[in-house]
Amino acid sequence: MVFHIFKDSFCNQCKKLFIPVKKQQVCGYCGGIIEDIVPMVDEMADDMRALKRYHSSYIPPQYGCCSSSDEFLLFVYQMFDVYERDFNGSPFEAFLTSFLNDIPFGENLYLRKNIKELALALHEKLR
Ligand SMILES: [Zn+2]
Repeated sequence: MVFHIFKDSFCNQCKKLFIPVKKQQVCGYCGGIIEDIVPMVDEMADDMRALKRYHSSYIPPQYGCCSSSDEFLLFVYQMFDVYERDFNGSPFEAFLTSFLNDIPFGENLYLRKNIKELALALHEKLR
C-alpha cells in the first residue's frame, strides 16, 4: 500500500513537470498559474504515517518508481528520515532550506521550491 504518483503533471504553459501540492499552483519554471489540481498531500501523509509505523522509516522497503514525480516523492521521504534521525527538534523549514540548497538539482532547479512546498505541507499534516 505504498503511494505512487502514476502520472506526472505538467504545466499547461511551459510543459514542465510539477508535483501537485495545492489546488492552485504557481509553476516554478514559468510562473504561470496552474488550476484545478487534485492535491495528493493527504494520501502521501497517510502513506508516510503507515511506513513509519511499520518500517520505522519513511522509505518503503521496496519501491519501484512509476514516474518522475515518484522519484521526487522518494527523495522527500528520504529527507524526512534524515531530519528525524539527525535534526529532530530543530526548525523544519531551516533544515529544509539548508538540505535543499546542498542538492545539485541541475536542470530541475526550478522544482526546488515545489519540493519545499510539498515537504512543508507534509510536515504540517504529520504533526
Ligand atoms: Zn510553467
